[in-house]
This record gives sequence, C-alpha cells and structure tokens, in this order.
Amino acid sequence: MSDSSTFQLRVVGVSKTYGDHHVNAVKDVSLNFQAGEFVALMGPSGCGKSTLLNLMGGIDKPTGGQVWFDEQDLTAMSDEQTTKIRGTKIGFIFQFFNLLSTLTVLENVSLPLELVGKDERECRRLANEMLLLVGLEKRVDFYPSQLSGGEMQRTAIARALVHRPTLILADEPTGNLDSENGTAVLELLRSVNSEFKPTIIMATHSQDAANYADRIIEVRDGVVFGDKQKCSLN
Ligand code: ADP
Repeated sequence: MSDSSTFQLRVVGVSKTYGDHHVNAVKDVSLNFQAGEFVALMGPSGCGKSTLLNLMGGIDKPTGGQVWFDEQDLTAMSDEQTTKIRGTKIGFIFQFFNLLSTLTVLENVSLPLELVGKDERECRRLANEMLLLVGLEKRVDFYPSQLSGGEMQRTAIARALVHRPTLILADEPTGNLDSENGTAVLELLRSVNSEFKPTIIMATHSQDAANYADRIIEVRDGVVFGDKQKCSLN
C-alpha cells in the first residue's frame, strides 16, 4: 500500500455546496495524485470539474473535507497563504485564456514573476524562454487581440509555466479552439509534462482530449465514478 506522504496532492472527502440554492457541486470526493502525473478530469458540463480544480488550487474553499498539497492543508490556510503557494508552485490554464488585453504577450507571461517580486530583467528573460518553448518568439510584442485563439492559449500556457510550477491545473484548455489548434495545445501539454514533469490535471468534457492524459477520472453530478490508468506499452 502507498504511504499517503508519497502523494503530491490529496483530496480527502471534499464537498462543495454553493449558496442559497444548495447546489451540491462536489460530493465527498477523495483522490490522490502522484507528482508528474498527467490526468484528465472528464465529464459533461456542470458535473463539478471546475469546482474541483478551483478547490485543488486553493482558489476556493470546500464546505467539507481537505485538500493537501505538498503535505500542507490548503483548506486550513488564509487566502494570502494560498495565493503565495499558487504564485510559486501552481499554474492555471483557462478555457478563455484570461490574458490581459492591455499587456503584450511578453508582459502577460512576465506578470506572474513580477507579482512575486522577481527582478524585471530576469522576468523578461524567463518569459522569453517560455515563449520560445511554445513557439511564440515572433509574437512577443503583439497584444492578445492580434493573436489567433491557438496563439492566445499558447501564451497562456507560457504564463502558466513561467514560474516552473509543480502542478498545472487546466480548465477546458481546448474548449474554445478548433480541432487543429486544440490538438496542438494538447500535444504541447504532453511535451511539457514529459520535459518539465509537472503534474497536470486537465478538466475536459471531450474523450479525445482526455485520451492525451495517462489517467482518466470520470466525474458525474459531483461524484467520481471512474478512475483508470491508461495502459502503456513502453
Ligand atoms: P463543470 O466545470 O463540470 O462545468 P462546475 O464546477 O462549473 O462544472 O459546476 C458544477 C455545478 O455547480 C453546476 O451545477 C453549476 O451550476 C454550479 N455552480 C458552479 N459555480 C457556482 C457558483 N459560483 N454559484 C452557484 N452554483 C455554482
């Protein structure tokens, strides 16, 4: 049996009920994640995937249960403490990219480093390095409105990676892309996972997207009802 301390992320009996309407978005979910896994959280719209990702990243607090990240209980922390952990260890990727329209590509990617007080020149150097990795070195001075959807998502991936997080949470990263750009983004996530070894947890409603992951967790109505490791021939 695995010692629980070997897991990077542990979701323990987590529930989330929203507001006055008592929507039970997540119901008593328990999951363990090893460092370096590429996992898909798969299920239809409204089944609780985004809620789970937000709880795992400490953006939101559960109504019951705990989320342990690197043996620290995120649910017992102040917002300031979880913000600090996100700023150093967690990267987020969103369906609608969430780039700042008044900043250039380079400035968008530098921002997470600036927010944790890194030297400006170092921020730019690391941001340029990440933009080269995602193939956008010729777009550094463009604004988001001058980019294609695929380029916007690649910028967002560079931004999520720039502080070398150990955990990446991606919420429907291909949900707003055509299939060609969607495939490019999924291949990029795969190569990031093999090259830098961050854990990647990707919410998706698409079986095709989920197939890029090594493990597929199926969610329905706020409950986990399947958790399969893909067989590998290697
Ligand atoms: P998914 O990401 O799978 O589409 P969500 O986690 O966004 O699912 O939503 C799960 C359920 O929780 C849905 O019924 C949704 O309407 C509800 N929900 C999500 N966010 C809120 C909120 N802030 N207030 C009230 N209900 C919410």
